[in-house]
Amino acid sequence: MTKINGHCHCGNLQASLTTDKKPEDMWLRACQCDFCRSHNMRSLSDSEGRMEMQVKDGSQVNRYHFGLGTVDFLICKGCGNYIGAVQEVDGQLYGIMNANLTENRGVQFGEADHRFYEEESKEERAARRKAVWTPATLTVGD
Ligand SMILES: [Zn+2]
Repeated sequence: MTKINGHCHCGNLQASLTTDKKPEDMWLRACQCDFCRSHNMRSLSDSEGRMEMQVKDGSQVNRYHFGLGTVDFLICKGCGNYIGAVQEVDGQLYGIMNANLTENRGVQFGEADHRFYEEESKEERAARRKAVWTPATLTVGD
């Protein structure tokens, strides 16, 4: 098992993905919605791994919502970086993290597949995230 660590520029938001996959075998997607394109987002996930998200100062995180409003997009109020997103499905939290905020800006993960998800219903999105996002925990400090 390896642990892939990422953090926002100022360090307030942290994410780690524990996985037994090699970087080249990782699930890596570039969602083509306006929000993800504006961050040049490459989403990293392993449905068989586990993800820990941590917010040190809870007053300095923006849980941004848009579209269907089912996902918390975690943005640091201090530095403006986008660390990743979480959604609860059937009582379990699932997450993705931003490959660009890992070591070496995530060059080891290569190019992400471009994806369009606009046609999906709320239920289809939840089912997809449950299938390919990573079981996650989110800890928020004071
Ligand atoms: Zn920050």
